[in-house]
Formats: sequence, structure tokens, C-alpha cells
Amino acid sequence: MLKKSKALEYLAVLQTGTTSPKRQLEDQLAQNVLNPSLGTRKLLIREGQAFEETFDQTTEYINSYQQYFEIIPPNQSISDFKTMYELKILFDQCIANKFDKKHEYNYSDRVYFGTIESSNLNALIMPVPESDEFLIIFNRPMWEGLQILSFCISASTKYQNESVEFDHDEANKYFPLFNKLLEGILLQKELPYFFSDNEVLNDQLRSSMWTQLHDALDAFVLGHEYAHFLRSHVMQAIKLIPSSMGIHRLRSHCYDWWMEYDADMTGLDLSVFRFIDNYEKVLAKNSTVKLSDLEQQVLRNRHIQLALEGSLLFLYFLHVLESFKYRIFSKTSTHPPTLLRIAALRGQIFQQISNEKTYNFVMNEVYRVIDRLFYFWSNSSMLPNIPSDNTNLSAEFTLQSGIFSQLFERSHFDVLTDLYRLRDFLSKKKGTFIKNMVEMIGVVPPSWLEVFEHMNKRNKGDRLDTEIVCQMLENCIDVLEKNAECWQARRPQ
Ligand SMILES: [Zn+2]
Repeated sequence: MLKKSKALEYLAVLQTGTTSPKRQLEDQLAQNVLNPSLGTRKLLIREGQAFEETFDQTTEYINSYQQYFEIIPPNQSISDFKTMYELKILFDQCIANKFDKKHEYNYSDRVYFGTIESSNLNALIMPVPESDEFLIIFNRPMWEGLQILSFCISASTKYQNESVEFDHDEANKYFPLFNKLLEGILLQKELPYFFSDNEVLNDQLRSSMWTQLHDALDAFVLGHEYAHFLRSHVMQAIKLIPSSMGIHRLRSHCYDWWMEYDADMTGLDLSVFRFIDNYEKVLAKNSTVKLSDLEQQVLRNRHIQLALEGSLLFLYFLHVLESFKYRIFSKTSTHPPTLLRIAALRGQIFQQISNEKTYNFVMNEVYRVIDRLFYFWSNSSMLPNIPSDNTNLSAEFTLQSGIFSQLFERSHFDVLTDLYRLRDFLSKKKGTFIKNMVEMIGVVPPSWLEVFEHMNKRNKGDRLDTEIVCQMLENCIDVLEKNAECWQARRPQ
């Protein structure tokens, strides 16, 4: 049962000075319910969407929402809070009942979640001053955006030939919405909340895909942040930071890349168990229908696959967002490069499936979902934001993306060996990079040359100097060396 807490008081303090238009709408709808003279409408927030329906009894509504109205801060969206609160309880149950090594997960009812309007943070975990509680807050537009993202990906399909297929015509309809999503997160414009679409809602298949994918994104995002608490990262970080710096401003990251990998892996695990739990509920609900072992296996796998889709879709979406800012990673970055996080997650999935054929089959299915994101990305009208004082940023972003995604298939050692060889080769060269490209055939794998060509194109006019590219390569080497070290030192048994 939700009770008053220091963490929620502190959340109210953090939200002071902001207004949540979403909460205002929720309050207004609630008034209509609680005061029958205002109309016979029921606020039914289902899967993050608000429906106004004719209502004849308020009991259900009052039971599920009254407790939140009384306890949570006035600027906190109730539906967001409810989703996060319920998911957290579910995670705790999964750990307690299903995790083999539950003693390695420090679950607790002293942790609270909320959302905040902010332009510069994605998520933050902090100890609540003068208490033993912790608060985890998410950037509200980012959290909100998961609903729109899952919508675009699910709505852009059609059921044909007995399977769900990507459909260009459907996708094209939602380009403006996808752009709104990007603008909402990158430019802090208001996103549509309680977004709904009748056409998709009336299509049972697409609407249930939407709900499930939204669920999968929520589970991974919440699971990742909660993991920083569960795995005691935040406590370790507090010990490292002098109290004079004010621990209440502690960021969720700890400059320790391992913690991010650990949080991703925990987020994926929690997400998988959340969907296995869903599968068991579906099975129990349909206990009169006898499913064969094979049918049960297929249904279970489909649920697990959803968790993989949500986790990888979120990380790829992060990469898409970063592409508009040309985010460059270095060894001092707070997080490891997003593509390396994707590589690590793929590695974890491979380990757990432990059969190459099954892994390829599953990943093929997962990438059918990711490809829909790529389609929206490549057709987006959003323009990258290039600071005028650094025209090489887009080239470096392309270079890093090309090199880091090598880790999907190859080891740190192999990629670093190629990088050292290329650096040594180029360090003796002068002039423009493009002039030296022909000679690079044989020095690096052919796939790298494609990256370089793309990079030259991105830099318009091929003016990129060899010396500059050497510095960029040096940066990639630093990142991969740090990453290799981090995995060597911390790889779990
Ligand atoms: Zn993190």
C-alpha cells in the first residue's frame, strides 16, 4: 500500500515551479468523476491512455486512483506514477519468487519513482535527504515519448499473409507524429499525452502490439534505473563522493561504465521475467483452453521476445536521438557508447539463448522491429543540430558508429588490432584523408572503407584532414581500451 513518505515530499519540492499539463487534465477528469453534477464521465486510464466513457459506478475508479490523489505531489501525473509504482512492485515480486540469485538484488520498499520536467537529464537516482529513502526520477517527455515511440512502431504494420508485416503506406501516415516525438525530446516541445488513435485502437492486433511494446519499453527503462539501486551502484557511488559536494545532486551515472552494463543486463532480466509473468497470467486466464506443449512454448517465447524488442528498441532510439546531436563518446563520457551497450546486450542474449540457430532466428525477429525505427529515422525531417564551430562532428559520429558497431560481431582485441594498424599507417601520411583512402585497402577490413566513404560524404567536400582522422581514431582506441578493461575486470562468473 502506498503511504506518505519523505521521498514523495522531496519529489514535490523538486517539481516546484513546474506544471504538468498532463496532471491538470487528470485532475479535471477526476473532478468530473467525483462530482456527478459535472457529468457522468469516468476517467479510465488504461495502458497510459485516458478514455472518457459513460460510467455507472465509481467504485473501481475510486479504489484504484483515490490513494494516489491523496498522496502524490500536485505536479506528478497520476497515470505515470501508477505505471511506475505497479511495475516496481512487480519487479520486486519477480526477484523474490523467480530470481536464482535474489540475494544479489537489494529490493526495497524505500524506493520511489516520479517524473520531472527537465531538458538535461534522462534519469536520476538519489538518496532522499534526512531519510533512508531513495528517489528515482525520469525526464517526463522521455517517459511520455515511449508511448509515441511504441505507437509508431506498432501502427506501421499490416496483417498480411498470416503475419505482421511492415507497411510503408501505414508508416508514412505517422511521419509527422514521429517528428513530434523527436522535437518533444530534443527541443523540449510538449508531446501529445494520452495520445490515442481510433483506427489503431479499433484494430485488435495492432492495438495489443502497441500496448505490449509500450510495456516492454517501460519495463526496460524503469528496470535499468531501478537496477542502479538494486545492484547497490548508487551506494557505492555515494562512498566515492565527498559529502561536501552534496550527495543529493548525485547523478545516476557513476563514471563507471560497468554499472551501466550491469544496469542494462538487470533491466533486460527484469523485463524478461515481467513478460514471463504476463505469459503465466495469460495461461491461467485461458485455463479452459488446453494448449499443446508446442503452443505453450511458442506463446512463452513470444513473451520473452517482447522483452528483447523493448530493450533493444530503447537503446537504438537513444542512438537515434544522439545522431541528431552528433554525440561523440570519449573515455571520460559518463556512459559507454550506446552502440557498445547494444553490443553487450546482444552478447548477453546470445549467452542466455546459447544456441546460434535460435539466437539468429530470434534476433532476426527483433531486428524486424528495429528496422521500422530505422525507416522513421531515415525519413525524419528533423535536422541535426551542428554547432558551427565544429564541422567535423558529423564525420566523427559516423566514424564512431561504424567502428563501435564492429563489436556486434567481433572482439575488442580484433577491432583494436585493426585500429592500431590503421593509426600507425595514417600517422605517417599527410594531406586529405580521401587522398590516402586507396592505399588503405588491405590495411583494414573492407567494411571499414564503406564507413570512411560515408564519413567523407557526411563531411561534404571531402576536406577532412588525415591528422584530424588520426585524432578521431585515437579517441576510438581510448574508448575501446577502457571498455575492454571494464569487461575484463568485472565480467560476472
Ligand atoms: Zn544508468
